[in-house]
Amino acid sequence: MGIQSLTPLDVASIRADFPILTRTVGGPVDTPGPSPTAATPLVYLDNAATSQSPQSVIDAISGYYESYNANVHRGIHQLSMEASLAYEAAHDAVASFIGAAGREEVIFTKNTTESMNLVAQGWGLRTLGPDDSVVVTAMEHHASLVPWQQVCKRTGAELRYIPVTDAGALDMDAARSLIDASTAMVSVVHISNTLGTIAPVAELAELAHAQDAYCFVDGAQSVPTRPVDVDRLGADFLAFSGHKMLGPTGIGVLWGREAVLEEMEPYLYGGEMIRRVTYEDSTWEELPWKFEAGTPPIAEAIGLHAAVEYLEELGMERVRAHEDALTAYAYDRLADSGDIDIYGPSGQDRGGLVAFNLEGVHAHDLSSILDDAGVAVRAGDHCTQPLHDALEIPASARASFYIYNTTDEVDALVDAVGVARELFA
Ligand code: PLP
Repeated sequence: MGIQSLTPLDVASIRADFPILTRTVGGPVDTPGPSPTAATPLVYLDNAATSQSPQSVIDAISGYYESYNANVHRGIHQLSMEASLAYEAAHDAVASFIGAAGREEVIFTKNTTESMNLVAQGWGLRTLGPDDSVVVTAMEHHASLVPWQQVCKRTGAELRYIPVTDAGALDMDAARSLIDASTAMVSVVHISNTLGTIAPVAELAELAHAQDAYCFVDGAQSVPTRPVDVDRLGADFLAFSGHKMLGPTGIGVLWGREAVLEEMEPYLYGGEMIRRVTYEDSTWEELPWKFEAGTPPIAEAIGLHAAVEYLEELGMERVRAHEDALTAYAYDRLADSGDIDIYGPSGQDRGGLVAFNLEGVHAHDLSSILDDAGVAVRAGDHCTQPLHDALEIPASARASFYIYNTTDEVDALVDAVGVARELFA
């Protein structure tokens, strides 16, 4: 198992915690799961899309359904109280994971996309006007770009883009002139899910605050892969998804500064988020429940809690070191071949993913050949169509790494790219 010399993580024992990593692929896909004819070991390099879950997360979710499945905050019976305590404890665990002041600052949503919409629509639609500007980056994921674009269209606010340089960095000179007295929000992706570029968030937050604007950070790719402390980040909002950090699908997080969240009106209305309702009017629950309308993702929150515990046990500094080592190895191996275009910054200063194209081969064809070899990567525009337009490419293939990946798996990727090269020669 190549990698052990490169990383501080004990990858072999980590892999033993992930049941899915023992499966093979290559059989018919009309039913889920390994088929009798499948023989190729799974090489899962699509972690920026969705990561896998360790047994402890799977057990936490099934434990809830097996022994205390009930709605939260609604019943005075024991199961409901147990579920409520577990649901609240999940908020506390996430708050401590990101250095938040407390559970009141941690809102559970469906995913990063919903967290973005909560602020773009809940705050932006009510607050922005034709004299305002919203500043985003040219490397935003659609989850951030589209909500701000639509809110700006409806309010008349101007949407401005901080460009990306040819070297794959944010153009901070442009940022300094784009963020001005009209700016009400600076919304920035912390780590680009296509380029791997790491945005200088603290500096951007300072520029925003100097203009009395808020700063929103899309942490979908950063929170799972490195230590993220909201105080050090300096921003006002942070969004991320459970399914990219060993947790289940169906749960995301919006962190916001308490004072800012207090001022904001709810985004969704209904049960759970109210304090008192009459036929004429309603008042709201305290934070964070004011923003969690309806039955929340209870099992998912319990699963996310277990995921956070797993990551904390590994240590996020060590997770980052592992990501850096594996990404540098993959970058160098792919770059060495000479016929592969890699997007984003070279060197160490990038997130744990590499998007690339093999000359003369469409990314979809490439990923299908990789799939034949058991190597799962993402192919397409990775929800960054405008960025792909700017790069003048229709699509790219993206390999993304997590705590259980090895250098052997990167070698399998490079070998499979070699098969594609020969097929298309
Ligand atoms: N932002 C970034 C940078 C992402 O990579 C993703 C997912 O790929 C998202 C936002 C959206 O995440 P979700 O689909 O969980 O809402």
